Formats: sequence, C-alpha cells, structure tokens
Amino acid sequence: MLKGYRKCICCGSFLPKEQMLRLARTKAGEVLIDINNKIYGRGSYICFSCNDISKFKKRNVISKSLKTNVDIKFYNEIEECLKNLSIKIKEVSAD
Ligand SMILES: [Zn+2]
Repeated sequence: MLKGYRKCICCGSFLPKEQMLRLARTKAGEVLIDINNKIYGRGSYICFSCNDISKFKKRNVISKSLKTNVDIKFYNEIEECLKNLSIKIKEVSAD
C-alpha cells in the first residue's frame, strides 16, 4: 500500500488521506467526524466522491467498519460534510 493512502470503506478505492473524510471511534465508543485528523482512536475513511452515501446506509458500512452501532442520523451528517468538502476541493482545483 502507498504511504498515506487509505481504503474508502464505501467504494473500496485507495486514496490519499487528504482526499478522504476520517471517522474516529473514541475509547468511549462514540463515533465522530474527524475533520482535522486529530481524534485518537480507531479510524475509518470515506473518499469525497462517496458523497451520495444513501446506498451505503443499507449496508451500514460505518457500523461494520468501526464495530459499533452508528445512528442513521450520523450518515446524514457525514453526507453533508462530504458534500461541503468536495465543493471546497473543486473550488481549490479551479484556481
Ligand atoms: Zn469511496
């Protein structure tokens, strides 16, 4: 595996961490969106192109990957977050 690359839990692609959203599971078992890659704990990554995650809700990939139950509302939060991030990326690359 290339250094700094992570596997997207949704589509399975390997991408640089910078192009992915990190989800972290804290010791307390809480799953958080880790925007700044600073939360200590087990991490899972979703790439920005997986911003239509409705199909992944059914498979519950996040719960499986982080081995804890994730509220369905959390998927909506992630979806919003991914959309905002992919918009930002597009703005940056358009310069
Ligand atoms: Zn993906």
